[in-house]
Amino acid sequence: MQNQQRTTEQWRQLDAAHHLHPFTDTQSLNQQGARVMTRSEGIYLWDSEGNKIIDGMAGLWCVNIGYGRKELSDVAKSQMDELPFYNTFFKTTHPAVVELSHLLAQVTPAGYEHVFYTNSGSEAVDTMIRMVRHYWDVQGKKDKKTLIGRWNGYHGSTIGGSSLGGMKYMHEQGDLPIPGMAHVEQPWWYKYGKDLSPDEFGVEAARWVEEKILEIGPEKVAAFVGEPIQGAGGVIIPPATYWPEVERICRKYDVLLVADEVICGFGRTGEWFGFEHFGFRPDIFTTAKGLSSGYLPIGAVFVGERVAQGLIAGGDFNHGFTYSGHPVASAVARVNIELLRDEGIIDRVKNETGPYMQKRWRETFSQFEHVDDVRGVGLIQAFTLVKDKSKRELFPEFGDVGLMCRDIFFSNNLIMRACGDHIVSAPPLVISKAEIDEMLGVAARCMETFERKLKDSGLV
Ligand code: PMP
Repeated sequence: MQNQQRTTEQWRQLDAAHHLHPFTDTQSLNQQGARVMTRSEGIYLWDSEGNKIIDGMAGLWCVNIGYGRKELSDVAKSQMDELPFYNTFFKTTHPAVVELSHLLAQVTPAGYEHVFYTNSGSEAVDTMIRMVRHYWDVQGKKDKKTLIGRWNGYHGSTIGGSSLGGMKYMHEQGDLPIPGMAHVEQPWWYKYGKDLSPDEFGVEAARWVEEKILEIGPEKVAAFVGEPIQGAGGVIIPPATYWPEVERICRKYDVLLVADEVICGFGRTGEWFGFEHFGFRPDIFTTAKGLSSGYLPIGAVFVGERVAQGLIAGGDFNHGFTYSGHPVASAVARVNIELLRDEGIIDRVKNETGPYMQKRWRETFSQFEHVDDVRGVGLIQAFTLVKDKSKRELFPEFGDVGLMCRDIFFSNNLIMRACGDHIVSAPPLVISKAEIDEMLGVAARCMETFERKLKDSGLV
């Protein structure tokens, strides 16, 4: 049974009448009408007007395997027929979640043998917050409660996740952050690096974490949490020196180190996890998105040996969701992970499509007058729209020209995202070299239009 067929206008009207969208100004959306996506295959989407769209964002950084994989819909159907739901609370389990957990222990580096399931990245982050605090309670260190995140970090939309995250426009709504959250500045060399080399700056930015730990008091700091590459904050890629130094500092003060791998996890950087790319070992890492390639909602918190043993020794952990380890989501995630592994998709990102994208991305965008800091790793990349390259000068109203640029891409059937004035992209990991060329060809034409519009509107 398919959805009822309606005209675009009918869908728009019904959507406007009843649907409140996430992160959206409803009034302004309803005036324009939402674009109705109806179909997908590989890296492409089609809208209700029949336009074929290149999805340079893999949905919301999540459709790692690409659209239209029948193996995933097949396993969802057979799992639904067999056992559509059972919980994992009261001394029960089921084959789908057991098999997924077993497989995940194989694809993660040694030492991450335990996993706790959620439905989303936000829930994974909130689970991690409660887990970290409980862990320290069990250790008898009941004052270790504060978590340190970073300004402009994104850790989800729940009260815990958005408090730990550093999006000020989120804090402004709903009296956030909650107590016990602190933030340090992001390791953004372009803005904060001044005369330091990126490597020198990486060490300096890590020292901000140390300063914050000392300001709060190490006996009160439970964990430092960061995305290996800040995603929604604009694909801020820290210098190579940053994470090893952060790790050293966390060890020095006995602060747990947590990587939020919701975007980086499952192949985005060309490694299975972002921390493998940067060469550090978190005590805990949170995941979602690529775990099921977005085909069904599922998240997971991976717990390293030290914290796992502490938790296991600590008796009941009073936390969980009805759908923790949902059978259908688990079955889909398992097949997704098997495909990523058995088809060598992540290896290809590391050795072939990733390097190709990075080369072509730099060639394509570096030539534009108002583009700088053209960057990326694997299949996550970005550039920043700037007023004056020679002075590393950003536009005064950070975000305005980003939106203008994003809208030009969108109306030319290419989805890229604006995070402030950072234009970012993270396509499905199955994108081919020819599709990369196609995507960047469209993007280059859009950038010509953008720079013309910038001049015409007197912004430069
Ligand atoms: N952490 C990070 C790093 C994310 O990028 C996101 C989502 N973009 C989340 C957490 C929240 O995940 P979700 O939207 O699935 O709740």
